[in-house]
Amino acid sequence: MATGTLTIDLDAIAANWRALDRMSGPGVQTAAVVKADAYGLGVTRIARSLAAAGARRFFVAQSEEGAAVRQALGPGPQIAVLSGHMAGDTEMIHDLDLTPMLNSLEQITRHLESLPGHPFGVQLDTGMNRLGVEMLEWQAVAPILIDTGPELLMSHLACADEPDHPLNEAQLAAFHKMTDGTGLPRSLAATGGILLGPRYHFDLTRPGVGLYGGLPHEAAIPALTLSLPVIQTREVAPGEAVGYGCTWVADRPSLIATLAAGYADGLPRTLSNKAHLWDGDTPCPLVGRVSMDLITVDITHLPEVPKSLDILGPNQPVDALADMAGTIGYELLTALGPRYTRRYQERPA
Ligand SMILES: *Cc1c(COP(=O)(O)O)cnc(C)c1O
Repeated sequence: MATGTLTIDLDAIAANWRALDRMSGPGVQTAAVVKADAYGLGVTRIARSLAAAGARRFFVAQSEEGAAVRQALGPGPQIAVLSGHMAGDTEMIHDLDLTPMLNSLEQITRHLESLPGHPFGVQLDTGMNRLGVEMLEWQAVAPILIDTGPELLMSHLACADEPDHPLNEAQLAAFHKMTDGTGLPRSLAATGGILLGPRYHFDLTRPGVGLYGGLPHEAAIPALTLSLPVIQTREVAPGEAVGYGCTWVADRPSLIATLAAGYADGLPRTLSNKAHLWDGDTPCPLVGRVSMDLITVDITHLPEVPKSLDILGPNQPVDALADMAGTIGYELLTALGPRYTRRYQERPA
């Protein structure tokens, strides 16, 4: 089998949710953000496992993703859609009981006219300038809208991973100004906001990346191993080059292993000549360029040719690899390709 194996530890993800739930403090509900196929890891198994751990509210980016979560969980848990109520989504929102977070006056009008009485929340823009109803618009519609019973008023922090950034306090103040006195449930914090402390928690927190073992949740339990099979090995003489563009040249007799994964599988080409793969605790340098389906690794120092090497695991968590590629854990996770076999690990209940 020439596909890599992505092993996903569902118990670790559930434990990370519980840890973030404890950090969210008593009286604060902890949701789970499972957009983008649960950050690339597979939403069906992950949503079920988080529901079993106690999560009752799930956030997705789009209604289509909400449909997949409803399929996985059945009726009951709330599924909130961050992009709100888009034209063409009305039937899906109704039939699958999704809860759109309305982002604009246009969406508010569409929702109240097409699905009166159907649950919704409102996303407010407190300074990120990406999604949400802005201050002046909100002041105009809030008096009417609050009586129609939004289930949640929410906003999102732009710089929560930088605790000292002045925008955090500014967004917190704007959120208070927009929502104090409404008596409605409120949510401001994702993973980074949970770590900023209780002033940011309000009634509901919405962690995503911290569930899957990514920064800024430093205490997260790593949840992933990505093992890539060795397809072939070859001896390379000093002076011979490996891969496209001859960017790596052997300076000693070398044993090079060719492994089955490349940039088509989400391993950024910027890892060329930078990352390590791991044989247990022994690092092996990735040599030459990452190509579409293959990478080449120097295994000269290993006592025998391994069946596979790990590019993600305890010795190289997601953020370490992302850092080497010049990106962030979020991007690396969500790029992990569909060709990997996803294997889920879970202690029997
Ligand atoms: C993605 C997202 C989250 C989750 O963020 P993490 O940093 O992954 O915890 C929460 N809220 C909104 C609005 C988001 O877009």
